[in-house]
Amino acid sequence: MIVKNATFWDGTKVARGELRNGPSDEEFDATGRLAIPAFNNAHTHLAMTLMRGTGDGLKLQDWLDRVIFPTEQRLTPELVYRGAMLGCLELIRTGSSSFTDMYYFVESVARAVEESGIRGVLGTPITGFRTPYYRDADDALRLAERQLAGPRPARVEFCVAPHSIYLCTEDVLVRAKALARKYHVKFTMHVSETRKECVDCHRQTGKWPVEYLDRLGLLDADTVLSHGAWLTKMEVRLLGERGCTVVHCPASNMKLASGGVMPLPELLAAGARLALGTDGASSNNSLDVMREMKIGSLLQKSHRWDATVAPAPLMLRMATAGSRDLAFVDLDDVRMLPCHDLIANLVYSGGAVTDLLVDDRFVLRAGEVTTFDEARVKREFAEAAAELLG
Ligand SMILES: [Zn+2]
Repeated sequence: MIVKNATFWDGTKVARGELRNGPSDEEFDATGRLAIPAFNNAHTHLAMTLMRGTGDGLKLQDWLDRVIFPTEQRLTPELVYRGAMLGCLELIRTGSSSFTDMYYFVESVARAVEESGIRGVLGTPITGFRTPYYRDADDALRLAERQLAGPRPARVEFCVAPHSIYLCTEDVLVRAKALARKYHVKFTMHVSETRKECVDCHRQTGKWPVEYLDRLGLLDADTVLSHGAWLTKMEVRLLGERGCTVVHCPASNMKLASGGVMPLPELLAAGARLALGTDGASSNNSLDVMREMKIGSLLQKSHRWDATVAPAPLMLRMATAGSRDLAFVDLDDVRMLPCHDLIANLVYSGGAVTDLLVDDRFVLRAGEVTTFDEARVKREFAEAAAELLG
């Protein structure tokens, strides 16, 4: 696609001119729109849209034990598909063309990715307990390998996604990473989300979580760790040396009162790669990466007493890390006026996404979703959420 009359962000500044994205010579007149790389939601559990708003205001452990885990025992492939379709709709409407997902019934999420026209990196959350999707960790690893060895739907990549150090044994973590290396795919997990997780890990292994993962040989450039809210200086150095990606999930950390704050400036200085994720819609409660940029920046500035940390261009780079697509934002929207600093407007004021271009195909065009019937998806989602939550 050739994008004419574009006002676009080139990674460091706003420029004007012509842009090319994808092999097609079809032309798109972008007058009145700001073109940016489409957002990449680097950590989420898409189908948790089904549980948005349930158990609101509970403490993290109560929320998991009393609401989320019991509800997830009732999941079916069809419910996950409908939850994932609504998630895809929310991603499209808020300018994300790709996401990394950790959830049960990966085949259902893959089906939603195929139908919606966006991209997904999908992994089974490997845990030691029985779920409706698998019996135990061995079974989950078998499932993960079957996905990796099997055919890949369009725009879907599979990854290996052990849930966390507290839900996986050492043996399972090592086998999971071996599987990721065998198939040359990403390895992703939650790490250092809460102080309890870190203290328990240190008590049991004599190491903090990232040191522990390093001792097991799990850290490399294909390792993507979400949260990192409680990291020591030594762990920050390790993450940089190993070239790992750390996904900042500021809204989820604050909403669930995890307490720690990802040491963003230190990770950046250490050479770690950074990305941005919303986490699931039941702990955020949104999948909107544009909002997440603002929340992350404000959290960092407030926490550090330093208005210079987490500037708007850095947040946009984190929010679009790895993006191959284009999103367009309405320059006439009141939040984008005046145009002194369009990136500051985008991050702190927000804006309206009008179009989303994936592989030469608009999945959102002039505000209309082109790949599926939005009304049907919402209707089927409402039925599914009612069925799941009674
Ligand atoms: Zn998560």
